[in-house]
Amino acid sequence: MASNLFIVIVGCGRLGAYLANRLSRAGHGIVVVDYRMEAFDNLSSDYSGFRVEGDAAELAVLKQAKVDKADLLIATTRDDNINLMVAQAAKAEFGVPRVLARVFEPRREDVYRRLGVETVCPTSVAAELFLKSVCQENES
Ligand code: AMP
Repeated sequence: MASNLFIVIVGCGRLGAYLANRLSRAGHGIVVVDYRMEAFDNLSSDYSGFRVEGDAAELAVLKQAKVDKADLLIATTRDDNINLMVAQAAKAEFGVPRVLARVFEPRREDVYRRLGVETVCPTSVAAELFLKSVCQENES
């Protein structure tokens, strides 16, 4: 059976909150970080993790979120530069074993990977799904 993880999620917008709600429900320990207090309204009523209000670009805020204890950090803001900065700090300053980041610019994925950061690129994922749908429709 997979064990429960301590996961820090940076950004509590649509993506971050969705992940926080699902992973919290699955039994993992979660801390979400966002600099907009109202972003925490995206969390569901059964969310059982913690919330840290602050700018994740500041090391003190990441410390407050206990990133040094995290098994996994997921950087979900819509700003590639912030996600890269946070991912780099998580790896280099806090020694987080696994770091995942949302990256919109497909050409930047290599930079992250060289740092040992796993990436999800919504642009490439959406493009592939559109192409698949167009090709399927065209074949039928
Ligand atoms: P979304 O794109 O809807 O998934 O939302 C991204 C979330 O990331 C928003 O709630 C932003 O307030 C949050 N965010 C963006 N930059 C930072 C930052 N530097 N520190 C903390 N939260 C951030």
